[in-house]
Amino acid sequence: MGWTLSQRALADHYEQLAREHVAPRSEWHYEREQLDRRAWRALADDGLWRIPVPEELGGHGLTWWDFCAALEGIARGGKDLGFCLSLIAHAGFLRSLVNFGGEYHHTVALPRMMSGSVGSTALTEMRGGSDVGRVSATAYPTEHGYKLVGSKAHITNAPVADMFWVLGRIDKLPAKRDISVFVVERGPAMRTGDHEHMFGNRTSPTGPISFFGLPITAGQVLGKPGDGLRLTYNTITLDRLLYGVVGAAYLEGLLQDAMDFSETREAFGHPIADYQYVQRRITNVKLAIESTRWVSYAALASLLEEQDEAVLLSSTAKLIGSEGMAAAALDVMQIFGHAGYELSRHSRNVQDALGTLIAGGTSDIQRKNIFTQLVKLQKAKNIPVATKTAA
Ligand SMILES: Cc1cc2nc3c(=O)[nH]c(=O)nc-3n(C[C@H](O)[C@H](O)[C@H](O)COP(=O)(O)OP(=O)(O)OC[C@H]3O[C@@H](n4cnc5c(N)ncnc54)[C@H](O)[C@@H]3O)c2cc1C
Repeated sequence: MGWTLSQRALADHYEQLAREHVAPRSEWHYEREQLDRRAWRALADDGLWRIPVPEELGGHGLTWWDFCAALEGIARGGKDLGFCLSLIAHAGFLRSLVNFGGEYHHTVALPRMMSGSVGSTALTEMRGGSDVGRVSATAYPTEHGYKLVGSKAHITNAPVADMFWVLGRIDKLPAKRDISVFVVERGPAMRTGDHEHMFGNRTSPTGPISFFGLPITAGQVLGKPGDGLRLTYNTITLDRLLYGVVGAAYLEGLLQDAMDFSETREAFGHPIADYQYVQRRITNVKLAIESTRWVSYAALASLLEEQDEAVLLSSTAKLIGSEGMAAAALDVMQIFGHAGYELSRHSRNVQDALGTLIAGGTSDIQRKNIFTQLVKLQKAKNIPVATKTAA
């Protein structure tokens, strides 16, 4: 597993673009708790969202590996973790449209998602995000389709998004077979609130969404009515492993900062790089990078090949990635001493990295998921082949 020459070129190209468009205004947007729409537009205009979309749907017909190479480039060049979280939310939505979409999704939603619109993936509600099966937003059948009623909270990009992937229920379908996904556009009968004030990732605004009987057609239901949980798990499986892809690339910048500083900063008559405790912190960062990167690639391969282990590996990538990022950001901040603890990019790295322990499902939920998947895979192994085939 490794990048091809063309994927390396793609990564370099997007690293350069992010250096020009994301990094210079990152602090400005962080202070204002805003998504950088200009940078978003520049990446979209360059064709970022067309990369993994088949040519017959208006894309470049490349692969999710190519997209990941580009995303790594953006994480390296932009040095803005929040901005990457906004990209991840959009990427999962995009793939879901490609894989499960019908005519509306392919001819209306997808072209917008590829050409500069911002997408939101809305699962969480005020009463809880971990237990997605408890969602209460409901689509009530009408003569022409449905009316969507309910609300969501803590949704990435919601304050500025144009398109929304919404998990809810369809009224009057049997319990447990009523959960469905709706793709809707910003419009009347819905409102997004102000951005929430977060500890970090302030360039990736999150916020609430309310639906007051938003009319939607049957064609806006993604996949089949009642198929929402399956679509959700498929969508978040990509999102979660992308946290790992982004995390590893993002930490490369922190590693470089730590190495440069430790070679020039002196204490007790020597560069601090000479001290084993400092070396330990630096090697921790490298270990976090490599462990996160390779399990994320394994998860992506597994997802694209539709292997049974994809969900388990994706949660593993998310868990290792977010916990590795949080620990590594703390290590680097401490290497910089007081300068690290001042309001600086080092303390911001800690604030941003901590958010990944919760966004995309908490660490405990990833562990729960890994255990559930282990049991499931174990059971599948023990079932005699004849029974398995008959089922
Ligand atoms: C930066 C950021 C971006 C986000 N973006 C989005 C987004 O785009 N879309 C979206 O839908 N949501 C988004 N969220 C919300 C996020 O998905 C939820 O915050 C997360 O799933 C946890 O839900 P909760 O906050 O309601 O906590 P709860 O579900 O109330 O959980 C509270 C605590 O209980 C623990 N817990 C719950 N159930 C169990 C269990 N069975 N076993 C063990 N522990 C358990 C959790 O791990 C957690 O520690 C975002 C959050 C953040 C921080």
